[in-house]
Amino acid sequence: MTAARPRSTVPPMDHDIVARLAALFEGRGQNRYGLTAVCQRAHALQTAWRAERDGATPALIAAALLHDVGHLIHDLGEDPAAEGLDDRHEESGAQFLAAWFGPDVTEPVRLHVPAKRFLCATEPGYFALLAPDSVTSLALQGGPMGTAETASFRALPGAAEAVRLRRFDEGAKLAGLETPPLTHFLLAVAASLRAA
Ligand code: FE
Repeated sequence: MTAARPRSTVPPMDHDIVARLAALFEGRGQNRYGLTAVCQRAHALQTAWRAERDGATPALIAAALLHDVGHLIHDLGEDPAAEGLDDRHEESGAQFLAAWFGPDVTEPVRLHVPAKRFLCATEPGYFALLAPDSVTSLALQGGPMGTAETASFRALPGAAEAVRLRRFDEGAKLAGLETPPLTHFLLAVAASLRAA
């Protein structure tokens, strides 16, 4: 068990990174989320809200909000998967976030794509839950895991949280669903900042 680390008590918008993340959601976050009927911002809010309602820690709520931030910081267009490109957004997002957040935020983000490949390999019926854009990207991401790969995945720190995040992610593509505002979830983001 890891020791609890000090949490920030500074109000969210006082942190440059929290303001920067808010600006990303209000800017590029308005872009459509893959082939779905929602924008990136709405998808992020719905994912974070599902995490909160499931009793997730602030770090997992922050990871849920930020899991697709890699889509907001690349220059590959609105839907690279439709062009046959894997934007590796889980890696770029986790690397970006690592400057300010610890592994309790970055690892679920990094592993949320492997978690989809894991769930498709280990849970009958999971594949059928995937939205069309997720099916397209699954093929580009390597398809369902093989047996050895699922065993190594299970052993990774953060794998269980990544699987939880993945389930929040999958159900967070509902057009018109009302959620609490971005500022609400930025509190969890601020509370999850690594102590300086
Ligand atoms: Fe997502």
